[in-house]
Amino acid sequence: MNDDAADVPALLARSLESGRIHSAYLLSGPGEAPRHTAQQFARGIVCLGEGERPCEACDACRRSAPREEIELDGTGKRGPLYRHVGDHPDLFWLERGPDDTRVRIGQVRALQNALRLRTSEGGRRAAVIAGAEWLNQEAQNALLRLLEEPPPDTTLVLVATSSAGLLVTVRSRCQRVVFRSGSDETTSDPESAETIARLESIGAASVPDLLDWAEEYRGQRAAAAAGVETLLATASAYLHRRIAERVGGADPNVEAELAAHRELASCRKSLVQRNANPQMVAERALLALQSGVQSSGP
Ligand SMILES: [Zn+2]
Repeated sequence: MNDDAADVPALLARSLESGRIHSAYLLSGPGEAPRHTAQQFARGIVCLGEGERPCEACDACRRSAPREEIELDGTGKRGPLYRHVGDHPDLFWLERGPDDTRVRIGQVRALQNALRLRTSEGGRRAAVIAGAEWLNQEAQNALLRLLEEPPPDTTLVLVATSSAGLLVTVRSRCQRVVFRSGSDETTSDPESAETIARLESIGAASVPDLLDWAEEYRGQRAAAAAGVETLLATASAYLHRRIAERVGGADPNVEAELAAHRELASCRKSLVQRNANPQMVAERALLALQSGVQSSGP
């Protein structure tokens, strides 16, 4: 086993091993680990070797080997809009230029255009968007179109310190890997860490965002109901912590949050005792939660 391959967490290593590679991933967490992992995962996708990938021995690995990085410029004046990983023509890397405050929509469009062309090697391609939290709304919408209609044999890998700034519709199209702070390891329960991050930004979410979120609990009932039960449990715990923090503060009016808490309990009852539709229950719970959080202020 070589060191680089060991840097790819289990979920991604399994994808590489089985060849069942999704069209989009979102790697989130602090530090360099998510970014480094994204690079190794992308290299693994185009690796031609057998066994652990990247193998660091094949022609593709030689071409994708990291070298000095060309600085990007979102305006395309002082540098390119995107670069390749190493000089591999089927690996793209996009991030905010050192002089930019945002990843610009022009960069996303340039990537879109590049991905419209056929692969030069005839195999899979991958594009990493690092610092995805710096995509503005316009750029996220452009990215969303790419996620909705992914070019054939292409994988997008988003990297963000926190996924909270990304549209729910963007996040929900990605396989997620959450990195724990101060460690290169992924959390044992990435869904829960992710759910908490999403709950923390629920006050700012729009109603369509919440409906999209609830839509993730569509399909086969047992699995969807289990997902909603986890969501309700995580949301109750989150509300409970929030209430506890506010009691004793300057404004101890927690009535709206208590009402939301009661509504979550009633949602759980509908789900478990009355076999209600999981997506509908999730919708009711998320809307109640949002209104509880919003009317009680930050
Ligand atoms: Zn290789």
